[in-house]
Amino acid sequence: MVHLASVKNDDEVFDPASRKIDSLSPIPDESEIYTNVYGSRFAAEHLPDHVMPEGEMPRQVAARMIRDELSLDGNPKLNLASFVTTYMEDEIEEIMTDSFSKNFIDYEEYPHSAEIQNRCVNMIARLFNCPTDPNGENAMGTSTIGSSEAIMLGTLAMKKRWQNKRKAEGKDWTRPNIVMNSAVQVCWEKAARYFDIEEKYVYCTESRFVIDPQQAVDLVDENTIGICAILGTTYTGEYEDVKAINDLLVERGIDCPIHVDAASGGFVAPFIQPDLAWDFRLEKVVSINVSGHKYGLVYPGVGWALWRSPEYLPKELVFNINYLGADQASFTLNFSKGASQVIGQYYQMIRLGKHGYRSIMVNLTRIADYMSDQLKQMGMIIMSQGKGKGLPLVAFRLPPNPDRVYDEFTVAHQLRERGWVVPAYTMAPHSEKLQMMRVVVREDFSMNRCDSLLIDVKLALQNLESMDEAMITKYQAHMRNHRAHPRHKQTHAQYQGEKHSLQGQHGKTHGVC
Ligand SMILES: *Cc1c(COP(=O)(O)O)cnc(C)c1O
Repeated sequence: MVHLASVKNDDEVFDPASRKIDSLSPIPDESEIYTNVYGSRFAAEHLPDHVMPEGEMPRQVAARMIRDELSLDGNPKLNLASFVTTYMEDEIEEIMTDSFSKNFIDYEEYPHSAEIQNRCVNMIARLFNCPTDPNGENAMGTSTIGSSEAIMLGTLAMKKRWQNKRKAEGKDWTRPNIVMNSAVQVCWEKAARYFDIEEKYVYCTESRFVIDPQQAVDLVDENTIGICAILGTTYTGEYEDVKAINDLLVERGIDCPIHVDAASGGFVAPFIQPDLAWDFRLEKVVSINVSGHKYGLVYPGVGWALWRSPEYLPKELVFNINYLGADQASFTLNFSKGASQVIGQYYQMIRLGKHGYRSIMVNLTRIADYMSDQLKQMGMIIMSQGKGKGLPLVAFRLPPNPDRVYDEFTVAHQLRERGWVVPAYTMAPHSEKLQMMRVVVREDFSMNRCDSLLIDVKLALQNLESMDEAMITKYQAHMRNHRAHPRHKQTHAQYQGEKHSLQGQHGKTHGVC
């Protein structure tokens, strides 16, 4: 699917809906009065898709046409591929809708929205056990569009700080590198590439899908700006051992910061494993990101970036923006954005409190454990840890069987036909022989829904078992055709077969998150 759309050539464009009109002639449809949507001419015409139409369309017709098209998207509640929030209470939905027209960056005009962001930063920083000594270390933070932006900011801060140090020492500051697991989310590859930082990977193995702390610290050299540790990898949901990395750095007297990518785990671990030291309790952890729109329980897009103290957020990166009269320090990649998501985060934190978050996360953990047990009974191999040791998700694969002609991708497609989106993945480099499926247990995935899914998994397996090899081959061809639906336009030729990413080089499937 393309997010970067390529503009069609004119000879490919056929748009009956865009009739040319002379600027002085009457607008063609002015006299038409539509009394019903499906009786109007628009219902019988192709919707404009390449050229902006000259004429107008009645609002109820436009709205109905778009709604009807979107109804063919998947049902977000059945999308078990994503960590991103699909349920919020009506009360806050209404407030968020009312806030659509507020531009968050306009601090002068909307000082209360800015104040609400600052309250969120304070609460989240404390949840992550930040230092709060005004005469010593005192945490800083900002809202972002999501963890990706927060990770870009964290990476920039580490790079700039390293460069400043190298310049002060009169040393080469042109070849920065960063150490991370090959199972990182794609935004880390982007951050490194966009900001000219060499990627140094600790590779997964057939049995280890998290970073090896020793290997990570061994990779650190004088050009290393930092180590990324993931609190909840996207494949198996395991928490990387941040403390082991921290302790090795301390033990060896290495001056290298850690950034924790807590995109998913940041709102889970503090409630399920409060004693797990992964955050600012560890002296080498200088910055943390978390997605408000994952287990922070807010609709997309909101994320948070936090720094241990201003020392780790170099001055050159922060701009004092005097916007419409008020001065406000700003460290973001973009300028304007809606205020609704930040407000939504504040609602969730004061509405639920720690007790509310804990009871939700406990339920999700129980449901994930139940699902693991049931899938195990069906013969699946469970790859996630369960029992609250990692994220509330279930990663699993089919048992090894050389005679079986179908794989995880085939099972995923069968489930898709029942409306469930349960993705299949190829694991990260050096473990790419492994394929797996993953169900993310989100707030609105109750035990009842879990039971429905389990029944459908059983049916899918029975179905596939009943097919002979020829039928499976036919079915897989059908799957490929389905994916290449002509209406879902393909990537422009220039970007096809991209070979510079971990996915391009090793066939790693980037987890949907
Ligand atoms: C989701 C995720 C990201 C990207 O976060 P967004 O909020 O989607 O930008 C980065 N890292 C990890 C570990 C994730 O799970």
